[in-house]
Amino acid sequence: MTARATGDDGEDPRSRIKRLERAASPLDPGPEERDRLMAATHGYARRFLEELPSRLTYGADKRAAPLVRSLEIGEGTHGIEALLERYDESVARPGIAPAHGGHLGYIPGGGLYASALADYVAAVTNEYAGVRFAGPGSVEMENQVLDWMAGLVGYPGGAEGNLASGGSIANLIAIVAAREAAGLEARGVPDAVVYSTSHAHHCIARALRVLGLGETRVHEIPLDERFRLRADALAAAIAEDRGAGLRPWLVIASAGTTDVGAIDPLDPIADIAEAEGVWLHVDAAYGGFFALLESHRAAFAGMERSHSIVLDPHKGLFLPYGVGAVLVREGEWLRRAHAYHAHYMQDAVAEEFERSPADLSPELTKHFRGLRVWLPLLLHGLEPFRACLEEKLELARYFHAEIAARGFEVGPTPELSVATYRWVPDSGDANDFNRALIEHVHRDGRVFLSSTMIDGVFTLRIAVLAFRTHLDTIDLTLRILEDGVAELEAHPERWRRDLEASRA
Ligand SMILES: *Cc1c(COP(=O)(O)O)cnc(C)c1O
Repeated sequence: MTARATGDDGEDPRSRIKRLERAASPLDPGPEERDRLMAATHGYARRFLEELPSRLTYGADKRAAPLVRSLEIGEGTHGIEALLERYDESVARPGIAPAHGGHLGYIPGGGLYASALADYVAAVTNEYAGVRFAGPGSVEMENQVLDWMAGLVGYPGGAEGNLASGGSIANLIAIVAAREAAGLEARGVPDAVVYSTSHAHHCIARALRVLGLGETRVHEIPLDERFRLRADALAAAIAEDRGAGLRPWLVIASAGTTDVGAIDPLDPIADIAEAEGVWLHVDAAYGGFFALLESHRAAFAGMERSHSIVLDPHKGLFLPYGVGAVLVREGEWLRRAHAYHAHYMQDAVAEEFERSPADLSPELTKHFRGLRVWLPLLLHGLEPFRACLEEKLELARYFHAEIAARGFEVGPTPELSVATYRWVPDSGDANDFNRALIEHVHRDGRVFLSSTMIDGVFTLRIAVLAFRTHLDTIDLTLRILEDGVAELEAHPERWRRDLEASRA
């Protein structure tokens, strides 16, 4: 019999291993401790949601960073209650509260409670959703969700997709598929042309740069009076570029622009893309799920003819941040761009393509995002989603009419749930006035609005998409704007001074 090896300290390996197991045991709490942690977390979530309506939507709190950093990561331990309290004061309160119905800026997100529970279950079970071999159910669930979205878009069988982390990555993945289909190689990039508009989301330009396509030419197509891509100008631009010996390969259309919510004329654009053999990508990150409404099907006509499309469930399905969907009509292009085999994956390699997310995106191991989409859709059914989307459209139209009635200059009647407007003062610079007005709204904090520049004009926006935004939120917003104008007009010297100060 051989002697057991002992360490320097004379401890034998088995007792050393058991000692380490005990030291690591807090990482795997028992049932009572789990209940205690859960009760504290649930208690916090409950208080947060109960207090939310009376909290500010926006607070410019400069203390956030030092507060977060005041707890150091090291050997120390802290109670769950204290940590959640720190979370609330340093994270939940400062900046924008995206779960608040008063969030009416940019494109608001959601935060459905059912999705939060799905994330909890996905994390506790830690299901693997990258490869079918490891997670046949999770992969099938993600594919079911994607097939449902493909059906909504009107894509035929053979479409493939991926649940990415958001719209930006989803758009990037679509462009990879487009590049693959065009057979675009590095030396061809400088002569290749992408067609887009000044209202396309900036993540498209970023994706091109990140993908090493920064040298590709981007031909900006003019917009019509409602800020939609002009199909006649697109046809002319492609003809001109072909004449100059260039290579048109990609058209980017928007179905719901971030700035004003405009839907490009997809059918006429698809006619051109088809005739020219150019990939048509539709960025419907914001607008896509409005296609669930019968009343809006016509506005999206032609999206089924696109080659790829992006929809953001963390916008139009009111989910918490962290999921954007890309769909490719001929899924083969998505697979060709991403599928790989590795020796250490040999057990998982299938004879036939099994529709694993790892073969359709740059990710391998990833969060099981399918569950956070699947659970609320199955729990609630589609009807409340449709009602919520329709309510948001109605609220945007109501706001547009009411703000016009209060003497504001307004943009086009909202096609979706974004409206633009500004106050034109009797004297002085209108851009400065509206800059001061938005700062007034931010200082107030009860609702959050954002602004944009449209053809050099400082323009205020309202974007209604948070599921907790209701009629009283819009009435409050109207009052805040009306009071803001009255106050700024009564004390012009004050806001001019503040504006100067914020510029200095
Ligand atoms: C929000 C948005 C994006 C970017 O999506 P993220 O989920 O924020 O990454 C892209 N395009 C449009 C039209 C958007 O509204």
